[in-house]
Amino acid sequence: MRLGDWCTTAGRQLLDSVLPPLCLGCNEIVGEPGALCATCWPGFSFISSPQCTRCGAPFAEAIGAGVQCGACLRRPPRFRRARAALVYDDTSKQLVLPFKHGDRTDMARACGRWMARAGGALLAEAELIAPVPLHWRRLFTRRYNQALLLARAAARSSPGRLAPDLLRRARWTGSQAGLRAEERRENVRRAFDLHPRWVDAVRNRTVLLVDDVLTTGATVEACALALQRGGARHVDVLTLARVVRAA
Ligand SMILES: [Zn+2]
Ligand SMILES: [Zn+2]
Repeated sequence: MRLGDWCTTAGRQLLDSVLPPLCLGCNEIVGEPGALCATCWPGFSFISSPQCTRCGAPFAEAIGAGVQCGACLRRPPRFRRARAALVYDDTSKQLVLPFKHGDRTDMARACGRWMARAGGALLAEAELIAPVPLHWRRLFTRRYNQALLLARAAARSSPGRLAPDLLRRARWTGSQAGLRAEERRENVRRAFDLHPRWVDAVRNRTVLLVDDVLTTGATVEACALALQRGGARHVDVLTLARVVRAA
């Protein structure tokens, strides 16, 4: 942590100890830190069952246990299971974007708790927990990898070991925004590789990948590919939010 970041964190912790806790959605005063107020809470779409057993997409109604969605049946994803705490919509965007581009790193703990609720089974089985890495160019402008903050927070609810630098960006892929699913997959194919110091540790392990938002899944699938090439037994995915398309 840089000195400036440390001062910000320390300063915030000091402020947190003297100021009343604020709602993560609207900054109104709430009873405890890392909470949503009674007005904001109902606006957030937390994902729970019934859902696709593979990718975690919520179903409108219960179809039965162990059912996969049409998208997973048509094209099985590279990961074993994916789960997300929230539907990525206009409401959760208000939470995710400041966390991603601003300095609301204090949200990580609450987000980690929500992710633990959504992905309890994944966290229980995880042996290594790794964030989707940012390219250093983006890390430089953003100062922190929000996926690492989430991975660290979620790892509190897991016996697994946090592996912050398990994966590296092998090449600059530019922004994924505006690309269609196929284009995204092509753009990030072979964009990741294993950090040499984890090459032995990853073999035969169950790895949990953590990111902020699951969009098309192209990025986590490229990460899963790198992990599978390295001999990982299973790759699961846990994100704070995910895009849900109308069936
Ligand atoms: Zn609120
Ligand atoms: Zn699915």
